[in-house]
Amino acid sequence: MPIDVARIPVLSDNYVWLAHDAASGETAVIDPAVAEPVLAAAAERGWTITQIWNTHWHPDHTGGNAEIKAATGCTITGPAAEAERIPTLDVQVTGGDVVTLGATTAQVIDVPAHTAGHIALHLPTEQVVFVGDTLFAMGCGRLFEGTAEQMFANMQTLGALPPETVVYCAHEYTQSNGRYALVAEPDNADIAARMAQVDAARTNGEPTVPTTIALERATNPFMRAKDAAELAERRAAKDAFR
Ligand code: ZN
Ligand code: FE
Repeated sequence: MPIDVARIPVLSDNYVWLAHDAASGETAVIDPAVAEPVLAAAAERGWTITQIWNTHWHPDHTGGNAEIKAATGCTITGPAAEAERIPTLDVQVTGGDVVTLGATTAQVIDVPAHTAGHIALHLPTEQVVFVGDTLFAMGCGRLFEGTAEQMFANMQTLGALPPETVVYCAHEYTQSNGRYALVAEPDNADIAARMAQVDAARTNGEPTVPTTIALERATNPFMRAKDAAELAERRAAKDAFR
């Protein structure tokens, strides 16, 4: 039985995700920025939170850990390399490790660059990947604790997942990313077409994520960068882009 994924918009532009496995009754929260809306969203659906998965230490991904754990007794899993910065962690994982949600398996992928220990969680049987702040719709995370070479490698790794894989990222940054993507690749008709849809969705207050690996391969200037130097150039240009 496939897992159900629910979106919880919190703060100004964060998305917290709930992944629910009906067969086992397990529910994982991915990157809880805050607790209260997450507990409410789970209760609304009759889901009991049994796990938290953190992709990286930033407070807008871990801020709800302690309160959700106090309310539910859930187990908190996150990057071993950031354990000191996530004092609420119960289980430390690193690339190649496996996390389970009922009978469903999530593969841990190391994607350092936005933060030094950032991980992604790929559920191959579900064709789903939770990428935190590493890959965004038409964008990538800022290089706070790593290099363009690392982010380029991350884009290759994630870009090599099956094209139909659904990508759950942690922020609604698509419109801003798309404005830059149009400048980075002015002749890319797929970007222009996507931006028309994104603008319409945002005008109606609708979300633009999840995305897919196929869509990112076609429209993401960071995944499409030919080498680390081009990614670095594009990342610097986006950082300065208004
Ligand atoms: Zn972050
Ligand atoms: Fe974030």
